[in-house]
Amino acid sequence: MPRRFGAYGGAYVPETLVPALGELEAAWRSSRRDPVFRAELIRWSRTLGGRPTPLYHAENLTRRAGGAQIWFKREDLLHGGAHKFNNALGQGLLARRMGKRRLIAETGAGQHGVATAMIGAALNLPTEVYMGTRDMKRQAPNVQRMRLLGATVHPVTSGARTLKDAINEALRDWITNVRSTHYVLGSAVGPHPFPSMVCDFQSVIGMELRSQSRALWGRLPDLAVACVGGGSNAIGTFHPLLRTPVQLLGVEAGGAGRGPGASSLVCGTPGILHGAFSYILQDAEGQVRETESISAGLDYAGVGPEHAMLRDSGRVRYVSVRDAQALQAFHWVARDEGILPALEPAHAVYAAVRAAARLSRTKRVVVTLSGRGDKDLEVVLRHDAAQSR
Ligand SMILES: *Cc1c(COP(=O)(O)O)cnc(C)c1O
Repeated sequence: MPRRFGAYGGAYVPETLVPALGELEAAWRSSRRDPVFRAELIRWSRTLGGRPTPLYHAENLTRRAGGAQIWFKREDLLHGGAHKFNNALGQGLLARRMGKRRLIAETGAGQHGVATAMIGAALNLPTEVYMGTRDMKRQAPNVQRMRLLGATVHPVTSGARTLKDAINEALRDWITNVRSTHYVLGSAVGPHPFPSMVCDFQSVIGMELRSQSRALWGRLPDLAVACVGGGSNAIGTFHPLLRTPVQLLGVEAGGAGRGPGASSLVCGTPGILHGAFSYILQDAEGQVRETESISAGLDYAGVGPEHAMLRDSGRVRYVSVRDAQALQAFHWVARDEGILPALEPAHAVYAAVRAAARLSRTKRVVVTLSGRGDKDLEVVLRHDAAQSR
């Protein structure tokens, strides 16, 4: 498990956190070799989570694109409605193994907060979630879900009142309560070992994709596409495919299209954010820039360090998709396939349709549908109403 991905990664944290990160890394490493832990992880992901998630042939969308076959990896069917469950479960079981008595988490779209609240309830670990007040407003149903699941939601009013600020507050809490508390970081970001550990828990997506595509078609897909916020569903999809010939495409949020949106890999520069060296959106002085995206889950100025390395090496290609394009893809998936996708993977669907249109009908494209769109209905309806006015 590398501490670094090329020049990227590392653990740029206050000294008080160093022992906690060491303890976490040791617990995680020993859990990987422990067949009892592995069996428990598999049991919970099946019985509570609903794994494995299917690979779905989006035939109508394929017809619309007029090229390669388009398939969805249905993480939207996972318990809680997003891939976040995979990571929250893994870290929750790890926290229990370490004897921690309390879980904390940050959340942007609210999906990670909901996933952590579910796991906290199931494993009897009291859970507190930090969330920016701007996100609390635009993702109100998830705030209610977390509270119903027994979690405490702490509103964060600093900075832009979104994900970055919520992570700052959660890190502050962790530094203060590090002995009793595990911080369930929600994406493949932050200091080592989080990026590698989160990738490990999310790699179930890519491993299932690999075996399902071999069973269905006797071969791997030609292209795999996933949206990139912090990068956890994308790295979970890509990592098991890195040493195969499958082409990989990561899709960032372009926002309204007037600035960089939240596209740290496409528009950012290397720098340090939340304890790791990676691509970030920053000004000339290294101050983190405010991001904007229609999808709260992609609205983050940084990205996991492994993606930074994969960008530089060219193994994964990263592109940016704007709000209006994601909305268009949302409607395509709704009308063509009878699925309301989350706005985050709608970005990936747009890029996948564009890519499929340029490929021959014999090729196959798999898009990771990282979550379902129920949480986004209000945002979508508001934009549609503004359009028709
Ligand atoms: C949180 C979220 C994302 C973005 O997070 P990653 O760590 O980049 O995967 C994407 N899709 C959905 C549905 C989410 O909830």
